[in-house]
Amino acid sequence: MRTVRHPLSPSTSGTQRELLSLHYGSAGAGPKVYIQTALHADELPGMMVLHHLRHQLDTLEAAGELRGEVVLVPVANPIGLNQHLMYAHLGRFELNTGENFNRHYPDFATELLDTVRGRLSGDEDHNRRVIRQALDQWLMAQRPTTELACLRLHLLRLAHDADVVLDLHCDFEAVMHLYVEEPYAHTPRADALARCLGAEAVLYAKGSGAALCFDESLSGLWWRLAERVGADTPVPLACLSSTIELRGQTDVGGAWARQDAEHLMQYLTHLGVVAGQAEPLPGARCAPTPLAGVQTLRAPHAGVIDYHLTPGTPVKSGDAIATVVEPMSNQATAVRADIDGLFFQRQIQRWATPDMDLGKIAGATAFKTGELLTP
Ligand SMILES: [Zn+2]
Repeated sequence: MRTVRHPLSPSTSGTQRELLSLHYGSAGAGPKVYIQTALHADELPGMMVLHHLRHQLDTLEAAGELRGEVVLVPVANPIGLNQHLMYAHLGRFELNTGENFNRHYPDFATELLDTVRGRLSGDEDHNRRVIRQALDQWLMAQRPTTELACLRLHLLRLAHDADVVLDLHCDFEAVMHLYVEEPYAHTPRADALARCLGAEAVLYAKGSGAALCFDESLSGLWWRLAERVGADTPVPLACLSSTIELRGQTDVGGAWARQDAEHLMQYLTHLGVVAGQAEPLPGARCAPTPLAGVQTLRAPHAGVIDYHLTPGTPVKSGDAIATVVEPMSNQATAVRADIDGLFFQRQIQRWATPDMDLGKIAGATAFKTGELLTP
């Protein structure tokens, strides 16, 4: 295993942070898989998963059983990891700019279209090489001036040529679920990922909104370019990139982490990164559903949230999910499902502000347009 340190440009005098990347196997010998954790720095289950995964990869590498390359970034956001305000950890937004650490990644199809258009042919493999080379050159030419931009660029440079990118996050309180872009949602690699991890919801969208997430930036390059250059110059779906929600913020226990690490090893074996016969894939726990089919439950007014259901419960339209109790007026209002689906996520706090997001239901039918993710 090779360790590489990537200094971030300092945000002030007298201090400098760095990223650490761990490189297993060898480049070009097989598929490349890139895994990072805690881009939202207060979402920690992935750190525990990598704690176990590293031991397994160390053993496999020593035994000569790695056929591809695995790159791990166990702390994807050292800036957010150090953002505490009055004892509260604020890891989702950079305090300086207010920007979400997992938004504002480049739309590479737009950036690279003019560069690659005249160099593509009728051969998919040739086009994959041309596009990856152009992406590499674009990334190497960037000169970020802020620490946040420097962080984003380092992560992209590490991940840009991976065949599979896994961005390990978690939700407030939730079951295992993941996000993929729609063109990839029914591909064998995405299906295998969901099965290996035991995902209870797989949510897909063709672009979730204007400010691209890390995973969308990397996977979106390929389908967005394919649509622009046309079928005569085929562009493969060369990077399956997924945001994986490893349950809830407090689900960092060793049993979950060991199990998830084993499941990731199973997936790596299935991809051919690890030598040996892959075990048969487990059955799928869900079918992929559209992100535009997710109902966000809203607080009708301020008050204490009394949840009636835990994440992972199938619901029908009309079912009461929670009651919000306003203690001065004593008003109690039920919050109900408007669709059939899986109640998969809820808040970690129990005081609601008006219109607050109280939870989500994954339904099979798309009914929303516009921005599909919370900022
Ligand atoms: Zn997150």
